[in-house]
Amino acid sequence: MGKKRKIAGPLRASKRKYEYFGKIHGDTVVQYVQKCADTDDPVVRLVELERRRSFHLEDTRAEIEKLIHDKVRDWDIGDYPGYVPLGPYESAMPLSWTVKWEPRVGNVVPGLGETIRAFVAALRLAEHQLLHRVRSCAVCQRWFFGIKDSALFCSTACRDKYKSSTPERRAAKAKYMREHRATLKHRAAMKKLRQSKRGGK
Ligand SMILES: [Zn+2]
Repeated sequence: MGKKRKIAGPLRASKRKYEYFGKIHGDTVVQYVQKCADTDDPVVRLVELERRRSFHLEDTRAEIEKLIHDKVRDWDIGDYPGYVPLGPYESAMPLSWTVKWEPRVGNVVPGLGETIRAFVAALRLAEHQLLHRVRSCAVCQRWFFGIKDSALFCSTACRDKYKSSTPERRAAKAKYMREHRATLKHRAAMKKLRQSKRGGK
């Protein structure tokens, strides 16, 4: 009653000393997908489409755009269009996209409060091109929000486990690492291209 509802908070909790950029929204999305087993859930679908895009370099952007469009309209949480594709001069990530959209408190959809909150958090991350850092651990498959793009493990325990794993296990994980390195390599090449076009070194 008269209480203001907040649709999206700041990306960083200013009072916490060791907070890193995007962590609040990253944690919100991670906690949501961790307990949601429904593959048709909009948040799960958005994270999965983004995982395929960033990790396997599949162009899932049309599906991402449609999903965002549908949900922003269904829940009335902002003005569409919100999805913006980004070219190599705007982003080092291949097949990049962002959202330019002013969030607003939308429909009260019974039972969907948490879903909408997590979806908005995901859009907040996407706005800063951080959604791909919501990923599953290469060892235990648990979801986590990577502190940087190269993060592959949810914890130092999993990283150590990987390092000390048997050759068989290592071989099984090698594919995962190769795909990830291909992404990083592409990104580095794009960055170089952008710098050269700008007349830099
Ligand atoms: Zn792990």
